[in-house]
Amino acid sequence: MNIDRLEASMREINEFGGTPEGGITRLAYTAEHWAATRYFMKQCEEQGMSVRIDACGNVIARRPGLVSNLPAVACGSHLDTVQQGGRFDGTLGVMAGLELVRGLNERGIATRHPIEVISFACEESARFGVSTVGSKAMAGKLNRASLERLHDKEGISFEEALSAVGLDVNRIESSRRSGKELKAFFELHIEQGPVLEESGIDVGIVAGIAAPARLEITIQGRASHSGTTPMTMRKDALIGAAEIILELERAALAESSSGTVATAGVCDVRPGAMNVVPDQVMLQVDVRGTKKSSRQAVIERIYGVMSRLELERGLRSEVRVLSDEEPVLLDNRTADLLAEQCERLGVSHVRMMSGAGHDAMNMAALCPTGMIFVPSKGGLSHHKDEYSATSQIARGAFLLEAAVLKCAEAVSDESKDAIITLNRGHQHESGKAKGIV
Ligand SMILES: [Zn+2]
Repeated sequence: MNIDRLEASMREINEFGGTPEGGITRLAYTAEHWAATRYFMKQCEEQGMSVRIDACGNVIARRPGLVSNLPAVACGSHLDTVQQGGRFDGTLGVMAGLELVRGLNERGIATRHPIEVISFACEESARFGVSTVGSKAMAGKLNRASLERLHDKEGISFEEALSAVGLDVNRIESSRRSGKELKAFFELHIEQGPVLEESGIDVGIVAGIAAPARLEITIQGRASHSGTTPMTMRKDALIGAAEIILELERAALAESSSGTVATAGVCDVRPGAMNVVPDQVMLQVDVRGTKKSSRQAVIERIYGVMSRLELERGLRSEVRVLSDEEPVLLDNRTADLLAEQCERLGVSHVRMMSGAGHDAMNMAALCPTGMIFVPSKGGLSHHKDEYSATSQIARGAFLLEAAVLKCAEAVSDESKDAIITLNRGHQHESGKAKGIV
């Protein structure tokens, strides 16, 4: 694998959807996303891969194996971004897969199993409000009916967006694959959080992916004049909301050993005037964790506050569950394989949970799945300043290569030498990097 070439090809593909502000905007199925997708397909074809695009817009590029009919070892991620997103989220995993194949071709390395590089469509929820659509379709987890009511901000339906790029929503179920086709799936991705950078560890091996429970809580009070209503006679819905928000923090802190986190990110106050006691507040709450029982414990405490609000403040509240997805634990043996390869390559590693959703969580339903995180500067993501250094990307990419080659049963493997050279080069760098040999 040639890391300079990987970075160069990331720069090239990031010209699609690049904005003057410095971010990347490639919303799913837009012209920018599609141009990047076509570019990726062309690059794969130039490497002699057979390339197909399924009904959901997932690209599957395949390098044949030596033995016919063996299941493929796949890797990949996504090329769509949020509005003004970063240069690494998703793009890294797709382009690293392509570079992996380029490297194998260049060195004439063959594998017994085929290798697939997958670019999943519509991973980000930025356009239609649903995430990981492509991998859900591939894993047979997509509810066709749920797509019918989806529209973007311009009022374009999901179906129209698909047909604008030549895809047919009526065929979307044909994207489903059988687990028998795949031996394993690996996703290389930036962490999008601060843990690796702060601990100075090279890579994270993802043990599980947290799923959000999302609630919309409406608190009903009574509007009255802010000047003439005595404090004891008020039914202030915003004070009720404040109690819920504070309890949310306390409850999540009590569950912090399980890694559960909770956020009230939306608070809509009505009527929203300085001289009126608020009569209605709508909160949207996101509770995430890899342990469903821990997540549930947080939610139970919120229900507890809601009944207290009714008794003590006369505030009625209602909950609408927006989503309640199952957390996904990734395959232990695949994580062990990644850890073994880290040891072999001299890459420091830690097992960690992912707080954000990824295509890997859907692929885990199809085949043993492993996920590699590399550090994100300042934990920043979905942002134009999203950044991972070349040496950090290199460690993740060489680990991806080593794991894929091990799994696909390569006839020889040179990634270890590449890492040794890399480590030698970085012993002169910062204090943090000195520990890595
Ligand atoms: Zn991503």
